Amino acid sequence: MLKQSVLRKFKEIVGELNCWHKLEDLISYSYDAAVEEPKIPDVVIRPNNYEQICEVIKICSEEGIPLITRGAGTNLSGGTIPVRGGCVLLMTALNKILEINREDLYAVAQAGAITFNLAQEAEKNGLFYPPDPGSMKYSTLGGNVAENAGGLRGLKYGVTKDYLMGVKFFDMEGNFVTGGGKTVKLATGFNIPGLMVSSEGVLGVMFEFIFKLLPKPHTSKSMLVIYKDIIKASETVSNIIASKILPATLELLDAFTIRTVEEATKIGLPTDADALLLIEVDGHPAVVEEDFNKIKEICIRLDGTVEVADNAQQKDKIWEARRKALSCLARIKPTVILEDATVPRSKLSDMMKAIRSISAKYNLTIGTFGHAGDGNLHPTILTDRRDKDEMERVKKAIDDIFEAALKLDGTLSGEHGIGIAKSKYLEKEVGKGTILFMKKLKYGLDPKNLLNPYKMGI
Ligand SMILES: Cc1cc2nc3c(=O)[nH]c(=O)nc-3n(C[C@H](O)[C@H](O)[C@H](O)COP(=O)(O)OP(=O)(O)OC[C@H]3O[C@@H](n4cnc5c(N)ncnc54)[C@H](O)[C@@H]3O)c2cc1C
Repeated sequence: MLKQSVLRKFKEIVGELNCWHKLEDLISYSYDAAVEEPKIPDVVIRPNNYEQICEVIKICSEEGIPLITRGAGTNLSGGTIPVRGGCVLLMTALNKILEINREDLYAVAQAGAITFNLAQEAEKNGLFYPPDPGSMKYSTLGGNVAENAGGLRGLKYGVTKDYLMGVKFFDMEGNFVTGGGKTVKLATGFNIPGLMVSSEGVLGVMFEFIFKLLPKPHTSKSMLVIYKDIIKASETVSNIIASKILPATLELLDAFTIRTVEEATKIGLPTDADALLLIEVDGHPAVVEEDFNKIKEICIRLDGTVEVADNAQQKDKIWEARRKALSCLARIKPTVILEDATVPRSKLSDMMKAIRSISAKYNLTIGTFGHAGDGNLHPTILTDRRDKDEMERVKKAIDDIFEAALKLDGTLSGEHGIGIAKSKYLEKEVGKGTILFMKKLKYGLDPKNLLNPYKMGI
C-alpha cells in the first residue's frame, strides 16, 4: 500500500494527469501479453522528461518501492507483471525519434518510441532499420532492447543487439549511466550497451538509444514453397544455409497454421500442404537473381513446389500469411501460449518431430510457425486456461518442449526473454554459476531488489 505522502510527491513530479492510482486505472498494468497470473501495481507513473524519471527512481529507492519499467506491455514472458506490486513506470510519452544521421548512419531515439516509427523514419531517409518484431507497430524500442527482440529478418540482418550502439539509463540510485556512442569502433570501458540488451528491466531504466542504420537494399524477391512433408521443408532450410546463401527471410508455417490462416483470410494458401516456406532474398539485383535461382533449385530437389511472387500484390499475399499467423491461431481458442524455443538450424527437423510427438502425447492443439532460418520456432498451444485438466497437460508439454530444445543444444528463448514464464528452466540451460553471477551483478547494483523484482528468477 502506497503512503499518501509518497503519492503526493509522485503527483508533484509528473502532475496529477500522469499519476494513476485508482483500481480501474491500474488493472490494465497488471498483465502483459504472456499467459501469467496478473498482479495489480500500487501506482502507474508516466514521465514526460528524463529528470522526472530520475526523481521517481530516487523516491522508489528511498521508500523501498518496486519499480517496473513498461513500454507497450507486448512481451510474451510476463516481464512487466508487477509481482511485488509497486510503481509501474510507463515510458510511452518519451517517444521521439531525435535524429536520423545520413552521414554516419545512425539514429538517436527515446526508449518509448514505437519500433515501426524508427523503421519508417529511416526509410524516409533512404536508410534501413532491420529489426522487425511482429509487434513492431506497438512495441517500444526500450522493450526491444530489454528483450533483445528479433523478427523476420534475423537470419541475414541479426536482431536488436546487432544495432544498439549506445544507451543512456538511470540505475536504481538515480545515477545517470551512459555506454557506447556514435562511432563504429568503440573500446572505451565495459560494453554497457551489450549488458543492457536482454536485461529485462532489472538493471536500469533506459531512456535513450543510438541505433546503427544500414543503406536500404536495392531490391528483393520472394517465393512461397509448398511441401507435402514438413520434414522436407526443415531439411530445405538446413540445405539453404549450408549452401552459404543468407536469405533476408526464411519462415515456416505448419499444416495446422496454413489451414487456420486460410480459413480466416481466404488469401489462397494451399490447405492440403503439410508445410510452407516463405523466402525472401534482397540486395544487389545480380546477386538476388543468382541466390534466388540457387534456392529454387534446392527447394525443388527436396520436393518443394515453388510459387514465385512476380509482383507486389503476390509478395504481399506471402507476407500477409506470415504476419497473420498468430492472430489467426488466436481465433481458435480463448488462451494462446506462444513459445520460442530455438535450436541450431541443422537441428530444425529434429525439433519439428519433437513438437509433433509432444502434441500427440498430451493431446493438445499446437500450431507451429516461425523463423525457420534462425532455428527459432513458435510452437503455439491453443487452449483454455479455465480447463484445469488441459492446463496441466499444457504445462507438461511446455516442460517437454524446453527439454527437447536444450537436448538439441538449443535455448529457452530466441527472442521473447525469460521474465517469469521461463525462470524455472533457466538454471538448466545456464547452470548455477551463471545464475550466481547474474544475482551478484543485480544485487550489487540494486541491493533491495527493487528494479523489476523476481524476473529471470533473480
Ligand atoms: C502479436 C505479437 C507479436 C510479437 N512478435 C515478436 C517478434 O516477432 N519478435 C520478438 O522478438 N518479439 C515479439 N513479440 C514480443 C514483444 O513484442 C517484444 O518482446 C517487444 O520487444 C516488447 O516491447 P514492449 O515495448 O511491449 O515492452 P514491454 O512488454 O513493455 O516490456 C518488456 C520488458 O522490457 C522492460 N523494459 C521496457 N522498456 C524498458 C526501458 N525503457 N528500460 C528498461 N527496461 C524496459 C520491461 O520491464 C520488461 O521486462 C510479439 C508480441 C506480440 C504480442
